Amino acid sequence: MPVVNELDNIYCIDTLLNNEKNAVCSYIVESEKVCIVDCGPTAAEREILSAIEELGIRRNDVKFIAVTHIHLDHGGGAGRLLKHFPNARVLVHPKGVEHLINPSKLWKSAKSVLGEVADIYQLPEPCEKSRVVVVDDNQTVDLGDCLIKVVHTPGHAPHHVSFYLVESDVLFTGDSAGMYHEGMIVPTTPPPFDFKKSLESIEKMVKLNPKTIAFTHFGFGEGKELHKVYRKTVDWVEIAKSVVEEDGSVEDLRDRIIEQDAEFGELLKLFRNSKIVGMSYMLGLWGLMDCVKRMGGG
Ligand SMILES: [Zn+2]
Repeated sequence: MPVVNELDNIYCIDTLLNNEKNAVCSYIVESEKVCIVDCGPTAAEREILSAIEELGIRRNDVKFIAVTHIHLDHGGGAGRLLKHFPNARVLVHPKGVEHLINPSKLWKSAKSVLGEVADIYQLPEPCEKSRVVVVDDNQTVDLGDCLIKVVHTPGHAPHHVSFYLVESDVLFTGDSAGMYHEGMIVPTTPPPFDFKKSLESIEKMVKLNPKTIAFTHFGFGEGKELHKVYRKTVDWVEIAKSVVEEDGSVEDLRDRIIEQDAEFGELLKLFRNSKIVGMSYMLGLWGLMDCVKRMGGG
């Protein structure tokens, strides 16, 4: 049963990559024009297709695959899925288009950064150019009986957007509002993390005042998590500054954050056997160090 949770007409699918539960999810918005938000990587194909079947949705009715950004765990599977959904088009940030059409550079960098986790995600297949649609900030996308509003939310990545489902008051945040597990939240800050843009993006999302957030990692949470992740982003960058100032290592940064943020320690324990989530946490720490150095050290 790939559908693990639902809210109104939104279904949360666990993609079960590498047999890891609660690592990467995808959402299906059941509407006149069905929309998949963050389809996951190529390796999520089977779970997505069986969720569509479980929900009794006809493949022809899937009209949109909305990717919050092109990182493999969010949009890597779009090319493969387009083959199953002949009427679907992919919605993406202007800066993400070329990588969906020709994912070879994206794959190369994923392989070098993620190593075996890239192999878990599997090779992204190219999307046909005519089936990729650029979405601008504030643009709305009509799903027939409901509306999606696009919010550009750079920071985690320059090509990041969030999708706000107006009627349900649900905001799909991809990686722009952190990773959320068991009521605990941590920022997602891989290189080249942009601190200033990330805060501006969170502020933008706070203004929407969503009741619910649909995290890709993982599941539904309350809108107020935005305030929490904002504060943590500020705090963690401060900690990274002091570690960089003292010429500390990434392990020092990890330990220092755990000292000040017990939730991070809890989450590291909870996901100690997870390659996918573990890798994200590690990359986030590298990204913080790198970001602080780029901003001019401690
Ligand atoms: Zn992610």
